[in-house]
Amino acid sequence: MMARQHIHLPTGMDHKKELLAAVYTVYFRWVERFPLACQKGCAACCTGSVTMTSLEGEIILGFINKQNRKKWLLDKLAQTSPGKSKAAITLNQYAAECLQHQEVDEAALGSWDFNPCVFLDENTCSLYEARPFGCRSFGSLVRCAADRAAEMAPMHLTVNTVFTQVIEHISSDGGYWSNMTDILYSLTDSGFQAENINLLPARPVPGFLLESHEVQEIHDLLQQLREQSPAKGVLSDLIDKFMPI
Ligand code: SF4
Repeated sequence: MMARQHIHLPTGMDHKKELLAAVYTVYFRWVERFPLACQKGCAACCTGSVTMTSLEGEIILGFINKQNRKKWLLDKLAQTSPGKSKAAITLNQYAAECLQHQEVDEAALGSWDFNPCVFLDENTCSLYEARPFGCRSFGSLVRCAADRAAEMAPMHLTVNTVFTQVIEHISSDGGYWSNMTDILYSLTDSGFQAENINLLPARPVPGFLLESHEVQEIHDLLQQLREQSPAKGVLSDLIDKFMPI
């Protein structure tokens, strides 16, 4: 596994936000190839299981504060309780254990909470512009229903995992990863005791879990991200060390 100090990270919140914006741009350009059935008002994916980083939480908080909706946010958070996911490892920790051929209990990534997301308002998202990557990467080739689960191309799932790893990496110099509401509890004066909130330190990318036929496409996407990004050194590290083709 790569030692943390050998991997560049963007300095300062503004650089991190710029890099995250570059991730979104490259991701959406790539995902346009799929004829997704998702439309405004279908919210089957919007559950309490969404995870994110503290960087994405800061972006949500900035968006809410700009709209003077801080009390609204606290009221929403009061509708649920922290520590529900019980995740013991982050996605990058999971990847590291898989890459070391360790037996990994998937339950360590947290339990599912299928209750509707507290930010869902009449089947639309009440913080849509600031939603985290976990929400942006929802997608299905068929309309979901109670008896019909989402369907995704395997490569779409792989790209979602890679980009989620990169986003965790961006926060791995002191940021956190957790369930969306736990991150927001930690960033607001929610009144919950810190010990009830499940926060895990975000980790650097240890490598990617790719099939051999996926390597070239992921390499090309990371190259696009490097071109798009204001913090090119960060992605150069990831490409040179983990995608040497
Ligand atoms: S934040 Fe918005 S997009 Fe994400 S799960 Fe909640 S309602 Fe859905």
